[in-house]
Amino acid sequence: MPLFDPQKSQILIVDDDISIIHLLSEILRGTGQITFATKGEQAIKMAQANQPDLILLDISMAEMDGFEVCRQLKLDPDTKELPIIFMTAQDGTESEIQCFEAGAVDFVLKPFNPRVVQARVNVHLRLKQHVEMLGALAKRDGLTGLFNRRYFDECYDAEYRRLQRHQLPLGLVFIDIDYFKKYNDFYGHLEGDEVLKRVAHALASVCKRPGEMVARFGGEEFVALIPHIDPQNLSNLGESFCTVVRELQIPHLQSDTSAHVTVSVGVVSAIPSKDLSQSALLEAADKTLYSAKHHGRNRFETLIL
Ligand code: GH3
Ligand code: MG
Ligand code: MG
Repeated sequence: MPLFDPQKSQILIVDDDISIIHLLSEILRGTGQITFATKGEQAIKMAQANQPDLILLDISMAEMDGFEVCRQLKLDPDTKELPIIFMTAQDGTESEIQCFEAGAVDFVLKPFNPRVVQARVNVHLRLKQHVEMLGALAKRDGLTGLFNRRYFDECYDAEYRRLQRHQLPLGLVFIDIDYFKKYNDFYGHLEGDEVLKRVAHALASVCKRPGEMVARFGGEEFVALIPHIDPQNLSNLGESFCTVVRELQIPHLQSDTSAHVTVSVGVVSAIPSKDLSQSALLEAADKTLYSAKHHGRNRFETLIL
């Protein structure tokens, strides 16, 4: 786990009183990179563009008050998760509750107690970092470090809809290690795990363009998502996945198809439409893979739908 580095965090201070911004910048010196806004609209634009780690938001501002800024940030999917600490001169339970009900994670009282402000800001920066790390881990497969099935499902759904709107081709690739049960039986499960990691790493090296991704679909099966695939290019792609694994030259004495670990690959491409369901495209990729298995393994087959 990377150590918490407050210098790298971004804090957006929003207050229509520039002297408060100066004061807070002084209090938070060394706690992160400070940006500031003196108006609500400007704060919202900056939050969308910069995605700060924390927003310190004055409640009482002349044009758009802090509650309204907060409300608008919470309505936008791009900013609704950004943690907000309200700054208020109003002491008392009602005022505290109002802050939390508006969606803030905390509040600080004016006039500031510098140590309290530092402590609260630090707590929320740490929390933000933990939430981000958990979010990143939740997308990953524990053994191989590739994206996991759950995250693949999310991306597949999003890409399918996006390319359906644009009427552009989506490529889907199923990849399965050949005779892997025999590998485990002969070399042991731990060696098998090492092979999965190396194969995963090799497969990931094929998907370099933005939007492309490889995930562990389950067991010794992987799936790749290739948006905007050129249907002319399916064979090259299938060949690339086979080649990167062959080139690892991992000995497999029990394989009936090669002296080394190999994969079979099914590549399909389709322009998503309402006549083709997401699951039908997945099934087509799976069938194409099993046709490659059936025809001898250590090979790819392609299908354009
Ligand atoms: P085929 O060429 O037809 O794909 O044969 P296969 O033996 O690879 O396929 P099968 O589905 O019969 O066996 C898959 C094997 O993958 C069985 C299982 O032990 C192994 N496997 C699945 N997940 C893991 C894992 O996380 N670690 C290890 N070491 N092995 C795994
Ligand atoms: Mg297999
Ligand atoms: Mg399998």
